[in-house]
Amino acid sequence: MKKTRQENKPDREGYYGEFGGAYIPEVLHANVQELGRVYRKILAEPSFRRELRGLLVDYAGRPTPLYAAGRLSARHGCRVYLKREDLTHTGAHKINNALGQALLARRMGKRRIIAETGAGQHGVAAATACALLDMPCAVYMGAVDMQRQQLNVQKMRMLGAEVRPVRGGNMTLKDATNEAIRDWCCHPSDTHYIIGSTVGPHPYPDLVARLQSVIGKEIRGQLPSREGRDYPDLLVACVGGGSNAAGTILPYLADRRVSILLAEAAGEGLESGKSAATIHLGSVGVIHGSRTLLMQTDDGQVTEPYSISAGLDYPGVGPLHAHLARVGRAEVVAITDREALDAALELTRLEGIIPALESAHAIAALSRRRFRADEVVVVCLSGRGDKDMEAYIEHANIH
Ligand SMILES: *Cc1c(COP(=O)(O)O)cnc(C)c1O
Repeated sequence: MKKTRQENKPDREGYYGEFGGAYIPEVLHANVQELGRVYRKILAEPSFRRELRGLLVDYAGRPTPLYAAGRLSARHGCRVYLKREDLTHTGAHKINNALGQALLARRMGKRRIIAETGAGQHGVAAATACALLDMPCAVYMGAVDMQRQQLNVQKMRMLGAEVRPVRGGNMTLKDATNEAIRDWCCHPSDTHYIIGSTVGPHPYPDLVARLQSVIGKEIRGQLPSREGRDYPDLLVACVGGGSNAAGTILPYLADRRVSILLAEAAGEGLESGKSAATIHLGSVGVIHGSRTLLMQTDDGQVTEPYSISAGLDYPGVGPLHAHLARVGRAEVVAITDREALDAALELTRLEGIIPALESAHAIAALSRRRFRADEVVVVCLSGRGDKDMEAYIEHANIH
């Protein structure tokens, strides 16, 4: 088994322990290698950092507040802070990554952007960044997902992106990703592929984690004035592909004083056959260019995942997260649809914040723990709930 010396970084081939790497078709080697060669250098350039920082502050609304949630704290018997990614432009953390990768693409001389999207959240973030930076953008989306997420399709079109329906396979995210990779194969020199989470071939998981680590860095800057120290006892985040979680925990990974609790989607239950709890139920395999845990049948067919939350409905998981679970650095709990819906309503009634269904999984994870009164807990509230109102009206027993 390979060893990762620094926990928050993959090794030279992009492995976190046994997970990661770059399993890609021959025609993409040059692209992925070029990205791997330049990304850290460009991200470290002062002029790049200035440019990205400027957009994150003036355009995306950073830093996001670290809110001391008084009534939620009383409910759980500890000191709960919410990192308010729901207050960013476009309403979720995905904009941090989309802006960063679009700027990176421009510095690499790539004029055209492609992206894949499932529920449409990443597609909207990519289309937003491309409108701002005046870059043509094509978003691949399964035809079934387009039907389910018409509002996001219309938003992407209004933003000037071309939404390309994918009719192969189950017509969902997996198939859209395959089409995006095919596009990239055909346009290797002028196109950058913006992957939306800490998944895909190396260096994407590390690139996305670094771009999202602004979340954790801000927490470290915001905690001292409240708590007199810059670290919490516990960090909590939901995991679809893993980007909001990675961004929250990255600056604290080497700090053993900080525990990590990750929430994945159990859907209708771990034993129900309708679930997206990849870390609980998955086995080792290769998906979207990375060796990681994935939900698959005994003969290696990827199984269609299910969660009420479209953003957690992914059959794989980032290699960093698979590794952190494997070595015990992170505890992973599986939260059902019902628990997430109840947590969403509870947060709304206690704090006046309607969370995204994804983020509600992280809130629900709090109920799995008993806390000491002085424990400091930071939950990443990854997004706002506007997009999920239909589900809340249908299921959340609102009265
Ligand atoms: C997409 C999304 C997620 C899941 O993606 P990660 O890469 O795991 O963060 C979580 N929350 C919201 C609001 C999302 O839009």
